[in-house]
Amino acid sequence: MSQDCIFCKIVRKEIPTEFIYEDDLVVAFNDINPQAPVHVIIIPKEHYESILSVSAGDDIIGHIHLVANRIVLKLGIAKTGFRLVNNTGRDGNQTVPHLHYHLLGGRELLWPPG
Ligand code: 5GP
Ligand code: ZN
Repeated sequence: MSQDCIFCKIVRKEIPTEFIYEDDLVVAFNDINPQAPVHVIIIPKEHYESILSVSAGDDIIGHIHLVANRIVLKLGIAKTGFRLVNNTGRDGNQTVPHLHYHLLGGRELLWPPG
């Protein structure tokens, strides 16, 4: 846990946020500034600054992908498709230094992104 981290505060429920999914390892919630009809943020409960902080043998990334799988089935966008994105560091435009994945869908998403 990091005292000042926004996403750690969401995990600790200090910033009231409705979780659309929660288990022992992760939570998922709607992005405050959605870029698509579906824009869910999936985060580990534990504070990792980015994917660069994940060690070999730690299955948190695999778990997040499985959770994304469950969420797209629940939200009904598995067939139409979606994008699961991780932004890391300055050039990746990571604005919150707590590992997270964006799950976007509900419209056609352009590629490559800007
Ligand atoms: P990044 O730019 O770091 O990849 O993505 C961070 C995302 O977190 C942004 O899309 C931003 O809108 C979202 N976000 C930042 N603060 C909050 C918050 O307090 N609540 C929610 N629900 N989303 C947030
Ligand atoms: Zn954090």
